[in-house]
Amino acid sequence: MMKSGKWLLIAALLAGSATPLAAKKEKEAAPPPSQGSSAEPDNPYPSTYKAYPGRPTVIRGATIFDGEGGRIDNGVVFLNEGKIVAIGGPETPIPADIAVFDGTGKYVTPGVIDIHSHLGVYASPGVDALSDGNEMTSPVTPHVWAEHSIWPQDPGFGRALANGGVTTLQILPGSGNLFGGRSVTVKNVPARTQQGMKFPGAPYGLKMACGENPKRVYGGKGREPSTRMGNMAVDRQTWIKAREYQKKRAAGKDQTRDLGMETLADVLEGKILVHNHCYRADEMANVIDMSKEFGYKVTAFHHAVESYKIADLLRENNICSAMWGDWYGFKMEAYDGIKENIPLVYKAGACAIVHSDDQDGIQRLNQEAAKALGAGRRMGIDISDEVAWTWLAINPAKAMGIADQTGSLKVGKMADVVLWNGNPFSTYSRPEKVWIDGAMTYDSANPKLRPVSDFELGQIGAGDVK
Ligand SMILES: [Zn+2]
Repeated sequence: MMKSGKWLLIAALLAGSATPLAAKKEKEAAPPPSQGSSAEPDNPYPSTYKAYPGRPTVIRGATIFDGEGGRIDNGVVFLNEGKIVAIGGPETPIPADIAVFDGTGKYVTPGVIDIHSHLGVYASPGVDALSDGNEMTSPVTPHVWAEHSIWPQDPGFGRALANGGVTTLQILPGSGNLFGGRSVTVKNVPARTQQGMKFPGAPYGLKMACGENPKRVYGGKGREPSTRMGNMAVDRQTWIKAREYQKKRAAGKDQTRDLGMETLADVLEGKILVHNHCYRADEMANVIDMSKEFGYKVTAFHHAVESYKIADLLRENNICSAMWGDWYGFKMEAYDGIKENIPLVYKAGACAIVHSDDQDGIQRLNQEAAKALGAGRRMGIDISDEVAWTWLAINPAKAMGIADQTGSLKVGKMADVVLWNGNPFSTYSRPEKVWIDGAMTYDSANPKLRPVSDFELGQIGAGDVK
């Protein structure tokens, strides 16, 4: 309880120091809103995130995976003013009189990044009243923004932090629609509003879906699309409209604002990144051709259980695959999933990412990666632990457009750091301490630094580390 009260106080203080949103004027025909800092004045829902207070901190003696495939044994990491200011071997100079944690026998990694989450939009408890992730009233809803569904009190955020070491996540709309809407990237911190979590400067994403979900949802209502060819046809017709809208906008011609078209025009101009839910290899190939037909880029296929069949195509087109370790077979289009998917994509030189798409899975992404790593090694693919960590660090950061700020332990980047009590690929390891922008936000040894959401206060089990 004390802990939670403290969080609230800090959140209130931070919010109080932010620029009053009401002071921002709405402009007609303003440039399209973007989460990026360059367009910040025009975004009616800008990030108000401010890092929690931290103090200079050193972790010494741990094994470090830097998130880009590098490893340092008996390493030193120095965090100050929210950034990583030094990283290296045991000889790395450490200033006197600052907090030093002994990491002997422990591991340090960048914070885990989950590129596919529905925390907040499908919040816990999973009741209809909190089911805000899928606007399944039309197959084409690029005008909805996931951030407007986020409930910051979702206890899942704290669980993902304490159990999973998750420091950054992309929250997407669901996959019932072909065009599901805008995603948002947040830092995993307690805040009173979604804007208080919003990752400063991160680009928005567009959630798209191919395959069974849209055709089932709308076919079941007797509407288009009811087939895969219907999926593609509705997609293409929508892109035709989007291209027209974007051309007019670029030429400065008058037209009525259209929220959905603004999002799609931003995709066509490369400002918003496409995250496409897709399982089958042949469908992914169709989508790649569609993206070329209309001149946009798919940043990542999510779920992508058949990426191993087209890993060369994905590499050539510079498209990431966000995948599970071993989920497969729960529907027809997931039938050809194999445990070696992630290592095979990695081996082909394509971009591999481990994602959760699940409020429990997000607490064990290290184990999800470990399963894939094990499957790869069993089939003879040589992958080191430190390289496998890129699946949870720099690769998702790149696909979310935030790799210049986080995703690896490099000097000048955000101090998003996890100290694990053992090798994080072991079932028995868990986060011991987590820092976000240099502020310790979780400490397994300190009950006051265990996250408790407002919703949990006064309830049995509040703040339990489950
Ligand atoms: Zn999902």
